Amino acid sequence: MSPRVALPTPTAARGAAPEGGDPAAGLLDRFGRRATDLRLSLIDKCNLRCTYCMPAQGLPWLAKERLLSAEEIRRLVRIGVEQLGIRELRLTGGEPLVRKDLEEVIAGIRDDHPQLPIGLTTNAIGLERRAEGLRRAGLTRVNISLDSVHRETFAQLTRRDSLDAVLTGVAAAAEAGLTPLKVNAVLVRGVNDHQAPELLRWALEAGYELRFIEQMPLEADRTWEREATVTAAETRRLLGEQFRLRPSAEERGGAPAERFTVWDKRDAATAEARGTVGIIASVTEPFCAACTRTRITAEGRVMSCLFSRTEVDLMDLLRSGADDLAVAQRWADAMWAKPAAHGTDRPGFDLPGFERPDRSMSAIGG
Ligand code: SAM
Ligand code: SF4
Repeated sequence: MSPRVALPTPTAARGAAPEGGDPAAGLLDRFGRRATDLRLSLIDKCNLRCTYCMPAQGLPWLAKERLLSAEEIRRLVRIGVEQLGIRELRLTGGEPLVRKDLEEVIAGIRDDHPQLPIGLTTNAIGLERRAEGLRRAGLTRVNISLDSVHRETFAQLTRRDSLDAVLTGVAAAAEAGLTPLKVNAVLVRGVNDHQAPELLRWALEAGYELRFIEQMPLEADRTWEREATVTAAETRRLLGEQFRLRPSAEERGGAPAERFTVWDKRDAATAEARGTVGIIASVTEPFCAACTRTRITAEGRVMSCLFSRTEVDLMDLLRSGADDLAVAQRWADAMWAKPAAHGTDRPGFDLPGFERPDRSMSAIGG
């Protein structure tokens, strides 16, 4: 087991009040982890229905007035960056491109923070028309979710026949310079797992960095079973049918993906590496001890962990005239209480003590 799997060690001797957070210390938790990476969900709604995320009929979407407005988002990011040590922002959802004011949201944040890396996690539908405008608004890079380059398999996984729109969106993002362009894929046993090497070949040829994400118990249908998860070890084995993988020598830090340098077995033994691939093993090799993330849902609630069952509302403060310090204090308090791992005191989705959050991935913001 790598040390990253180890549980964080509790400590209260870090200058923060034992009962809660201290905004002056940033978003520190009881285990000494400091969140510097903000995942902010813009909307819970989505135009796909990925089987590992959404139910076929969708979910009851939040009314527009319950979503954080562009101004509220801008203020939260300002508080996060200026008072709480946020160094990186990722906008997500649901599907963030469903928000018509996405360009306005990004331009406002960019005005306040010229150097802040701003990423977008998206399914790329509609990106063909918007990639260039988003880059001009100040977007830095995109992560695009794509599980198969086969039309039928894509439709089976997403319950929509939209592969062409996604592929043109990916190309437009690359063309607009929203790079390094990462592609996220979830493997589902018996559906697209056998296509893993082919998906990697497609990404390597186009110059995208592919990352495989182990499926987590965050689908609204509640059908997840550990035995059905295509594990990181299995993914390495599947890729090994066509590629040679060597763990990257780069320092991983708080990054969730373990990166591998990749050689094509069809090439000569002396040939150069083709690129890299990442594997995010949240289920079988959790990295909770190195977590640097804080999340805010589309209706303005802090979730200190993807699996947190406690949500702390910032929206009521934003809409009741509270000052920035009050918002920062509540956010820091929420993070101080961050659980050790997987929303509980130890990592393991199949261990006693683990309870799923009430929300699906789309309603949290992945
Ligand atoms: N709609 C956008 C997209 O799909 O990129 C952004 C939101 S989506 C919830 C963010 C990421 O979460 C996607 O890469 C998706 O594959 C991943 N995801 C969704 N459900 C998941 C699950 N149960 N386990 C692992 N990853 C999941
Ligand atoms: Fe939508 Fe993304 Fe969930 Fe797929 S993974 S249903 S694209 S939110």
